[in-house]
Amino acid sequence: MTERRQFRAIKGTRDILPPDSALWNRFEQTAREVFESYNFGEIRLPIFEQTELFARSVGTDTDIVSKEMFTFPLSQEFEKSTQLEEGPEQRELVSLRPEATASVCRAYIEHNMQALPGNTKLYYMGPMFRRERPQKGRYRQFYQIGAEVLGQSDAPAIDAEVLEMLLVFFSRAGLTRTTLYINSIGDKNCRPQYVELLRQELQKVKDQLGADSQRRIETNPLRVLDSKVPSEQPIIEKLPRISDHLCDDCRAHFAKLKDELNLRGIQYEENWRLVRGLDYYTRTTFEVIAEGLGSQNAVCGGGRYDGLVELLGGPPTKGIGFAIGTDRSILSIEETGNAPAPDGLSVYVAWMGLASYPTAVWITRKLRDAGLTVELPPEEMKFKKSLGLADKLGARYALILGEDEVASRTFTLKRLADAEQKKLTEAELLEYLESERRR
Ligand code: ATP
Ligand code: MG
Repeated sequence: MTERRQFRAIKGTRDILPPDSALWNRFEQTAREVFESYNFGEIRLPIFEQTELFARSVGTDTDIVSKEMFTFPLSQEFEKSTQLEEGPEQRELVSLRPEATASVCRAYIEHNMQALPGNTKLYYMGPMFRRERPQKGRYRQFYQIGAEVLGQSDAPAIDAEVLEMLLVFFSRAGLTRTTLYINSIGDKNCRPQYVELLRQELQKVKDQLGADSQRRIETNPLRVLDSKVPSEQPIIEKLPRISDHLCDDCRAHFAKLKDELNLRGIQYEENWRLVRGLDYYTRTTFEVIAEGLGSQNAVCGGGRYDGLVELLGGPPTKGIGFAIGTDRSILSIEETGNAPAPDGLSVYVAWMGLASYPTAVWITRKLRDAGLTVELPPEEMKFKKSLGLADKLGARYALILGEDEVASRTFTLKRLADAEQKKLTEAELLEYLESERRR
């Protein structure tokens, strides 16, 4: 006997069902419209890549690479092939992508995009995978929408335009109560000295820090600034700040960025502790937080990553981008009551009598062609039951089609909210519903 087993989605993954999925689609559609108005084009990327690509770009000391990736051998023959000493491609490890900037840079190099005129402006959307402890706003399969600008220029106007685009998108998508935090974390000329200074200062207070932060003094001192541990906060507040240690070029870049943001009327707050979790960032870093989310309240992170393309074997290239967390953004839109009402079902075709069925099929097609959402019951039903179902499905209208209507070549349209009925010809029906749809 086969065992009866109830399958469930794996912890940290979930199904997005209607009507929620309509909100997701609208969110993504708004991103497409806004990003395309800034002349970004969509790039569709693979969901898994060589593990080495993420290790090299995101950084081996980061949480993402050290413990959050889903990694597996590419070849089914993995076990055997290590013994047979086949070529390295056979033994290659691949990972489900934890983020997409690395893939965008890989694709930029692979397709020689530096040869294209002007800056390369790309956006992407899709699932990302991280082995994290699942909780509200934190999943193992989650979704991001991101954009990247790659090219020869690192003009602060690029950073500012990217931020403008991001905030225009958020406001158009109904994510209105957000705060933008910005920082500059310097570049290879000034950050190493600052990190060394930070390490020295951290050594002095090591005993007062928790285990995670103590470890990071050696591996990645900047990340200590990211700590949320309450007892560490007064200590961190007294640490040296990068803003006092930027080189002249980085300082000028950051000042110009703020001018550019002011020019665009963009509100922001500076946060010297915003260092971000990925190794590849230089100069500009930013984060957007939203309301209604509790502690998982970051809905977007991003920054500049000059040099990442080169690190991955490509030509010297500047880059900046962001990644929006779709799951958390949708949660915030819902919790702040900004979710638009779904369009829903406009017409339910209540047909009775087999003689009316062909007309029902044909008028349903016509109404759908006109852009209406229409439900046609596949089997004949009693009139009362049919109208009851129309009500339960939330239809705005029932189109009643019985022998009388077929004989007189008319339709009876009933508005379910107030039971008002009209007898209409086909032309009148289409015209009426069309005008209703536009309202
Ligand atoms: P956090 O500090 O919340 O872990 P992060 O720094 O790891 O965020 P990024 O790698 O910058 O996040 O990703 C950008 C955005 O993607 C985040 O601001 C967040 O909205 C979303 N995000 C990241 N990890 C998850 C996850 N596990 N589940 C849901 N959304 C996520
Ligand atoms: Mg994280």
